[in-house]
Amino acid sequence: MAILHCTSLPFLSLRTTISSSKSTLTSTRIPLFLAMNSFAKSEPVSSSASSSSSTYQQVPEQDANNDLDRVADNTFRRYTSNVTKGSGKGTAIVWFRNDLRVLDNEALYKAWLSSETVLPVYCVDPRLFATTYHFGFPKTGALRAQFLLECLADLRKNLMKRGLNLLVQHGKPEEILPSLAKSFQAHTVYAQKETCSEELNVERLVMRGLKQVVTSPEESSGITVSNNIPKLQLVWGTTMYHLDDLPFDATSLPDVYTQFRKLVETKCTIRSCIKLPASLGPPPTVQDWGCLPSLEQLGLSSQSVNKGMKFVGGETAALSRVYEYFWKKDLLRVYKETRNGMLGPDYSTKFSPWLASGSLSPRFIYEEVKRYENDRLANSSTYWVLFELIWRDYFRFLSVKYGNSLFHLGGPRKVQRNWSQDKNLFESWRDGCTGYPLIDANMKELSTTGFMSNRGRQIVCSFLVRDMGIDWRMGAEWFETCLLDYDPCSNYGNWTYGSGTNV
Ligand SMILES: Cc1cc2nc3c(=O)[nH]c(=O)nc-3n(C[C@H](O)[C@H](O)[C@H](O)COP(=O)(O)OP(=O)(O)OC[C@H]3O[C@@H](n4cnc5c(N)ncnc54)[C@H](O)[C@@H]3O)c2cc1C
Repeated sequence: MAILHCTSLPFLSLRTTISSSKSTLTSTRIPLFLAMNSFAKSEPVSSSASSSSSTYQQVPEQDANNDLDRVADNTFRRYTSNVTKGSGKGTAIVWFRNDLRVLDNEALYKAWLSSETVLPVYCVDPRLFATTYHFGFPKTGALRAQFLLECLADLRKNLMKRGLNLLVQHGKPEEILPSLAKSFQAHTVYAQKETCSEELNVERLVMRGLKQVVTSPEESSGITVSNNIPKLQLVWGTTMYHLDDLPFDATSLPDVYTQFRKLVETKCTIRSCIKLPASLGPPPTVQDWGCLPSLEQLGLSSQSVNKGMKFVGGETAALSRVYEYFWKKDLLRVYKETRNGMLGPDYSTKFSPWLASGSLSPRFIYEEVKRYENDRLANSSTYWVLFELIWRDYFRFLSVKYGNSLFHLGGPRKVQRNWSQDKNLFESWRDGCTGYPLIDANMKELSTTGFMSNRGRQIVCSFLVRDMGIDWRMGAEWFETCLLDYDPCSNYGNWTYGSGTNV
């Protein structure tokens, strides 16, 4: 990272009208300036100065009574079924990707149903820790890497509670999975389906690798497997509405969000969460389940959060946050009025980091909203959380329709425009040194915590793209590095909207 020159850029005017079709910000007189000053004044991350005082707020809140585990255990109990297994045979592998959860995990359920033993696997893929596509930023920053490691540790713990474990392997899935399928004579690898090019490429390579594996008929435990080649079975699981339930083919997805929303709201139902039995074990015999890497082993230096919000990774924390936001603090009833805030844990749900890692199922959130509406109240705020989750679905389905154009400079609309890649301007934005306190505070919040409010993201995106005229992909890739909730569909979807290159 370059040395910072914190000069203000007075020739720029802070344009405040966000042209996104989603919302319009009409005034710069936001009284958050003062409170956000703690970020605006703080030293940038790349500086050697460090703050002596630690004033962060943990999300979900720190608890004295082990609330996190208690809440998660209660939730798991509600989602435990008495289903008894059918005629599953042999071994099935679950390849965990961005679905790092037990509750409502269809790949895990299908693996359990189809086999006698389930082998859960996570591959620490070195490509995730390389650099971004165009501009060479770290593909996964230290804060998201730390969050991911916490998700994996928690997933392992929750699988162990159900009689399984998590095999952690370092390397490319296309090398690891065929080799495991051969060693364990697995008949199927189950995994969550992804939609963007890098992930699709890995799926293709895994499929190709599995085709080289031939399990012997007697060893594959009587399962009828075509040519005894283990299959890769991909399962849809990222959205609230299931792809197969859409009232249109994904390639005919409406280009206007409101049309999409009205169609799914009137013509589709949301599937129930999948319940699992209390025990999924025993797992196959494994000599060494593998250790989680340290940040240093991933080529990253650890970065501690000592200001703003500090998110705890993992499904246990995710379930706890849902409980805290909906039930304990009763904030769901006012979400619509508070959601455009910028400060602290409570103005919005903060579910996004767990949704992005798959530690939290959007269908579980839906069911909790419905439970809240039954038990407490239903109003425009309770509905609005679902409205926002439909945006998330929309960006996922857009990636199916528009494929790689989401990542291209001209976007899905193939817009021709001259963009600047001025290094100094970009770095002043990236490092929070533009001289505009609102921009700088938001950018520093991003680099010191891995989070920024939705309104903050809209404002800094608009500033980079419209006021500075910088290539929007530079901003999108920097977000890709830093965001705890980085998701290719939501990130590039929102950036193409902000830059006027989406449909
Ligand atoms: C330039 C830009 C980049 C963004 N990049 C990402 C990203 O990489 N990952 C990501 O999850 N969100 C992204 N967003 C969307 C949004 O800013 C975050 O989802 C939201 O700030 C997360 O905070 P929350 O969970 O408290 O949201 P809440 O307001 O509580 O909303 C609830 C949930 O709805 C979904 N949601 C809300 N707004 C959006 C939206 N505009 N697009 C998609 N989903 C939405 C999220 O899953 C969120 O957790 C981006 C927005 C912009 C403007």
